[in-house]
Order: sequence, then C-alpha cells, then structure tokens
Amino acid sequence: MEIPLTVADHLQRSELVYGDRIAIVDEPDQVAAPLPDLTYGRMAELARAMAAGLDGLGLDLGARVAIVSQNAARMLVFLFGTSAFGRIGVPINFRLNAEEVQYIVEHSGAEVLLMDPELVDTLGDVKVGRRLLTGEESDSLFVEGVEPRPWTPDERATATINYTSGTTARPKGVEMTHRNLWLNAAVFGWQTLVSDRDVYLHTLPMFHCNGWGMPYVVTAMGGRHIVLRKVDGPEILRRVEEHGVTLMCGAPAVVAAVLDAAAEWDGPIPGAGRVRIVVAGAPPPTRTIERVETELGWEFIQIYGLTETAPLLTMNRCRAEWDDLDPGERAVRLSRAGAPALGVTLTTSPEGELLARTNHVLKSYWDQPEATAEALADDWFHTGDGAAIDDENYAAILDRKKDVIISGGENVSSIEVEDTLFSHAAVAEVAVIGVPDEKWGETVKALVVLAEDADGVDEQSLIDHCRERLAHFKCPTSVEFRDELARTATGKLQKFKLRAPYWEGMEKQVN
Ligand code: AMP
Repeated sequence: MEIPLTVADHLQRSELVYGDRIAIVDEPDQVAAPLPDLTYGRMAELARAMAAGLDGLGLDLGARVAIVSQNAARMLVFLFGTSAFGRIGVPINFRLNAEEVQYIVEHSGAEVLLMDPELVDTLGDVKVGRRLLTGEESDSLFVEGVEPRPWTPDERATATINYTSGTTARPKGVEMTHRNLWLNAAVFGWQTLVSDRDVYLHTLPMFHCNGWGMPYVVTAMGGRHIVLRKVDGPEILRRVEEHGVTLMCGAPAVVAAVLDAAAEWDGPIPGAGRVRIVVAGAPPPTRTIERVETELGWEFIQIYGLTETAPLLTMNRCRAEWDDLDPGERAVRLSRAGAPALGVTLTTSPEGELLARTNHVLKSYWDQPEATAEALADDWFHTGDGAAIDDENYAAILDRKKDVIISGGENVSSIEVEDTLFSHAAVAEVAVIGVPDEKWGETVKALVVLAEDADGVDEQSLIDHCRERLAHFKCPTSVEFRDELARTATGKLQKFKLRAPYWEGMEKQVN
C-alpha cells in the first residue's frame, strides 16, 4: 500500500485521538481578541470551516492564500485550513515592509491575504484580491457545518510557499510539498521525542519555515501549543511556569534573552530538569550552550538546516557517551551543527560547501526554474554554507559561501541592502557585510565609497535611507566610509577580505 503523506494526517489524527484535549492556548495579548482555548476537535472544525470559507470565495484547489501575522492561534488554524484541504499557504515574515510584502503577494499569486491588525499602519497599502484582518474579519471566513470541497490527497502537491532571503536581491519562494513537510515533521518529532505530554511554547515565529515544522509535529502527537506573540525573556520564563512548558525552539538570540531573564529571576528557574530547547539559525557560542545546562537546567539541542530543507538536516543531542562529561565538555560537543538526521546524506564539495540529499529538500523555487536548477545541481542540494565534517560524522558550520547575513535568526541578503544603498545618489560603491554582534549574532555593516560630489552625507542619513525602504532588521547598524573597496582583477568585490578585520581571532566566520 502507498498512502499519500499529507499535512491533513496531522490534523486528522489529533482530532480522532485527542479531540477533547486543549490543543491551543492563544496569546492573551493579541491585538485582535484572542481565540478562546481550542480543543483538537475545535481546531479541526475551524480548519474545515476556513477551507469551506475559501471555497465560498471561489478559490480553486491549489490557490495561494497568504498570511502576515505575529504568532497567533489563528495562524495555526491557517496552516491546516489551507494546506490540509488542497490549497497553498504562504506565511510571510511580519517584519517586512509594504513593498516587500507586495512583491511576495504578487509573485506567489496569493488571492487572499490575512493580516494582523497591528500591521495595518505599515502594510495597509498592500494590494491583493481580498484582504482580511485577523480577528472578527478573518473569522467571518469560517463557514461551519459545510463540508469543504473534496481534495484528492497528493503528497507531491505544494503545501506551503515560504519566502526566504538568499543570494538574490529578491526573496525566493520555497515550495514545500506535503511529503517534504510530513517527513521533516516525522524525523524531527522522533529525534526530539515529542509526545502527547509535551507542552510546546511558540518562541519561534510560525512564518519561519512553518515554525520549522513543529506545528505539524505537536498537533500529530496531541501535545499542547502555547502561543507567544513576542520574544521576551522574562515572559518566556513566566509562560514556562504557568503552562508547564516542556519544549521550545529558537535562534541563539532567544536563548540569550532567556539567560538574561534567568539572571534576574527570583526563585528556582521554571522548567529546570524538564524543558528542552532546540536551537538553530546560527552557531550558538559554546559558553551559551553550557549555561543552558548549568544556569537553566534545560536540555540544549542543536539542529541545522534551511528553509529549503524544511529544515532538518542535522541534529545534535546529548548522546549516552557524553552523559558523564562535565557540562563544559558536553557543550563543546553540542556546539557542532550535528550529525545527519535520519534519511539525510551530507558531503562537502571540494570548495568546502555543505551538500545535502534528503526527502526534505524543496521541490522547487516558485516560478524560478533557473534558481531551482542551480540549487539542485548534480542532484545535491547546495546549502551555500561552508562546513567541516569531522571523524564522528558531525558537521560544523564554519563560514558562508553565499552572500547572506543572519541577524537574530533571520536572513538578510547583502545584495538587496547594497541595491538599496546604491539608490542613494551619494553612493558610488558599496559592500554590505555581516560582522559579529553580541546580541544578534551578526549585524549588517555597510562599507561605502562616496561619489565625488556627495555633500553632507553621513552615516545616519544612509541608515535612514535604508530604513525608509527596507524591513528594519535588514538595515545597516553601521556605515564606514572608505576611499576604495578591495576587488578582484575582474572587478568583483572581495568580501572575504573586507570582512576579515572584523572577524579576526574568531574560530568560525559565522556567528
Ligand atoms: P533560513 O533558511 O532562514 O532558515 O536560514 C538558513 C541558514 O541559517 C543556513 O543556511 C545557515 O547559514 C544558518 N543556520 C541554520 N542553522 C544553523 C546552525 N545550527 N549553525 C550555523 N548556521 C545555521
């Protein structure tokens, strides 16, 4: 027998087996009124009601439906209300500006856009066939008691398109099939041992790689979702205490926020001996990993991957052999990205680029056949990350072959920022690089050669120029003026040379 693996399976199982259990506790502080606690039965009803509502709007199966929102219970319902019924969900980064969101809406061909009311000030001008603010307006989409249009499950169909900033000025739409999402969820859930006893705190934005797939994992197993709208260290600790949280995911910046909060916390740290925190997005400092164990008493797990790989490629979780090591030595071992997850094959190219093969690798970039062919050349997925694989077969990410800066866990395309700076008349040449930053891992720095007739242009005016045009997390936090920039004989910027002084003495060229 071969039964298609689809996102509907996760929802159906939890409805069948855990129908009466609380599935989702919404963020109490939503701008729109939060949804009341939802059981798995109710969550499935709402997902069906959403699909029926989209039928009512005349949307075909395969149509794209986008959402731009901070974490919310409605966003979890959206992930199932679209994909589990044959439509394609397009979750968009809520930190993007109107022009960037407009591009994604148009490029994906989304016919409907759900928008968090808090974003209306910045995104109010985005044009789309139908816009619904999340809350009363989007709830009017729920058509209850009507069976949605039947969809013949197809595991090769695209379930979501996740836009990610990469090596081009414009983000690319990563097409994730149901099969991609299903297998990522199964392997991720298994290797982190997610069970029906888990209480999952959404410290990770749900738009990012579909919350890395945890929404599917936790739903399938009947665990409890605790929605968190905004990362805030003390609030994370409070929620862990209040809801008995056992599991969360995040970039190293989330871990840093929790450690800061713990230093000020009165009394025993919530979740000690119980919480496991899965970290990815950047290589966390070894000392941070050690502190998770010694100061929080939480288990630290590292994974590595990309939006294009759903994302699970590697996993690093304490193995039996390391149990008797002291925390510092254990942290050294956990500081690597990890060993291949089940079903993943890794190798490095002669240039040191990490290449991967697995069932979680994207089907294609939406409407970008050339970019797809490049990423999948020679039947390997090209990660764009420089890595070393040691004799235990653990990979460590050492540098980046691609022109991407990762700040606070979100990708920034240097090319996009360079384009924006070039649009300023005073800029003759520019190179945008990532430099180490205590809080964000990396931060964006611009090196600028001014045009001869540039007058009265200073660091702040160039930063402001970017802030008016780009999402703020992409903007330079510093600008340095130079007489010239290092280039190759063919005129190509030598970014590694430009970066070198800022990374001196560091073991890795990523942070
Ligand atoms: P994204 O597609 O936005 O999830 O970003 C993926 C990129 O994040 C990868 O290509 C890496 O450069 C980086 N990344 C993810 N996880 C890790 C990790 N554990 N260590 C180092 N870099 C990471």
